[in-house]
Amino acid sequence: MNIIPIRSAPPQIPQANLPLKGELQDVFGRQIRDLRISITDRCNFRCAYCMPNSVFNHGFKFLPHDALLSFEEIERLARLFVEFGVRKIRITGGEPLLRRNVEQLIEKLAALPDVEITLTTNGSRLKQMAETLKKAGLHRITVSLDALDESIFRQMAGVDFSVRDVLAGIDAAAAAGLEPVKVNMVVRRGTNDDQILPMVRHFRGSGHILRFIEFMDVGTANGWKLDEVLPSRDIIRLVDDEYPVEPVNPKHYGEVAKRWRYKDGGGEIGVISSVTQAFCSSCTRMRLSPEGGLFTCLFAQDGYSLRELLRHGGSDAEICAAIAGVWQKRSDRYSEIRTENTRRPGRVEMHYIGG
Ligand code: SAM
Ligand code: SF4
Ligand code: SF4
Repeated sequence: MNIIPIRSAPPQIPQANLPLKGELQDVFGRQIRDLRISITDRCNFRCAYCMPNSVFNHGFKFLPHDALLSFEEIERLARLFVEFGVRKIRITGGEPLLRRNVEQLIEKLAALPDVEITLTTNGSRLKQMAETLKKAGLHRITVSLDALDESIFRQMAGVDFSVRDVLAGIDAAAAAGLEPVKVNMVVRRGTNDDQILPMVRHFRGSGHILRFIEFMDVGTANGWKLDEVLPSRDIIRLVDDEYPVEPVNPKHYGEVAKRWRYKDGGGEIGVISSVTQAFCSSCTRMRLSPEGGLFTCLFAQDGYSLRELLRHGGSDAEICAAIAGVWQKRSDRYSEIRTENTRRPGRVEMHYIGG
């Protein structure tokens, strides 16, 4: 993965078309609407599909603290993104709740106008932090949980942590008012597909929204194989056999999860079918890495670093020109052209860019 520094008037970024605020479209006419901000590359889990222990055998090292954008730098960028029309900001990582004083960042972001602030977490610290996050102004939360069975969960998460504690985190988030809580389950055929129905039975009627994610070929380390992907249409069929479901219209354009509801009123579930039903044509997401790199796709090999501009006196106008230049030259549609053989070396890692 390369991160190319953007200085003022960067040669590699085409001149942005003015006006620099408001409408911003990429090569395929997609507007920018969502910003995902990864605030750390560190994590206390070692999910084999994201950050397997093997990454450390290949010389991987976590970023030093001074390489990370400060909360003030993140807030400044977020404000400019909001001026470009971003309406949803997701804080992610690595594990975002490991970043010290994360609530101070949430407070800053929640003060921006007309933008929803959400966060994705593995839930390990949620029980203690839910109340603080809510008070800081967090609007919504997504918690990852791949199994209810303790041994399958431990196998997936790669650490000795208990399902019970993640469930307690989910309850604490709901009690703090961060509801509906979304629960993300990555499904790997042959590893945790037998957990689909137990998860459905557990979360039905709870008010939480369970979402099944197809196992993706992100990064370089997770040994992805197409036959480990359980297509979400099969997941819906499995659920429907036990609890009939019907589709629900999307709430807004570019929604990643397809929504379904139980016909008997037991609530909602979702499926994220990035492998079998790609949604690149409505992809409105920009990603900001912990050290200030802009990535226009989850499967990108290159990013563009704003950190030099931020730290060497770049004006808001220069930063806006850089953001606009990156978005306007965006032509990513990886999931639409994926095959078993599209893996390329040097792709950005999920625990770095955050999903
Ligand atoms: N650590 C936090 C967590 O796990 O929720 C936030 C970062 S994590 C990279 C964001 C989301 O990406 C999680 O829901 C995780 O399950 C998902 N994810 C990671 N690797 C994946 C993969 N190979 N395929 C599908 N989803 C993946
Ligand atoms: Fe950590 Fe989240 Fe990646 Fe699991 S998915 S290793 S919890 S960053
Ligand atoms: Fe967006 Fe890239 Fe995913 Fe397509 S593959 S939906 S362009 S992030």
